[in-house]
Amino acid sequence: MLPALARGFLEGVVAAASDFLAPPRCAACLAETGRRAVLCPGCAQTTERNPSPFTMLQGERVFAPYLYGGALRQAVVRFKYGGAPHLGRPLGDLLAGALATALADDPLWRIDGPIEVVPVPIHPRRLVQRGYNSPALLGSRVAEALGGTLVTDWLSRPLDAAPQAGKGRAARLRDVQHAFVAAPPRVVATRVVLVDDVVTTGATLHACAGALRRGGARVVRPVALCCALAENFPPGPQDGV
Ligand SMILES: [Zn+2]
Repeated sequence: MLPALARGFLEGVVAAASDFLAPPRCAACLAETGRRAVLCPGCAQTTERNPSPFTMLQGERVFAPYLYGGALRQAVVRFKYGGAPHLGRPLGDLLAGALATALADDPLWRIDGPIEVVPVPIHPRRLVQRGYNSPALLGSRVAEALGGTLVTDWLSRPLDAAPQAGKGRAARLRDVQHAFVAAPPRVVATRVVLVDDVVTTGATLHACAGALRRGGARVVRPVALCCALAENFPPGPQDGV
């Protein structure tokens, strides 16, 4: 098993190489776009901004600028499960652009100190299966846009969560609460952006944010590219809730 920092570096290299080699195609329907655009014009029309980008979930104020639907949903599924790590760059830029604007209006964010960007981790075995962690690829773009540092070895997921499908909601939430741990921080982390790809109930982000606060983070901002209604995004064995 590679150290987490080395894995993070390799994820970035793989993403960059894929991006370089991939022709400019729509992330959803694969039509050639002829330019560096996430979606073709037709698919872009089906993308909806979240009318309430800040939502209170599990006691966390979660930022998610887009709705999980239309062509963006197709693109996220390809990115998350379809072996398309190159989509991390354009999808990460979508999140980063919206987040930078939102944080500019956040009074608690206007404090001095470094910015750490922490992706929601997946289990090491799934990292091997997929070859990359989608939140980490989004997070690298967020870190670049905010002038922060991507930190992939702070949070870990030491327990392989039992299959979520078929479990009741309460049992799933209980499992997720214990699925993440934060290593002792090497530095005092003032501002932390916690990044996921899709948020549904917010339980995963809440569990990760709690671990980070216990690990010393002062201000934690949980963010996700898109927000899904639970009925549109049923948690499977490989998903959080
Ligand atoms: Zn398209």
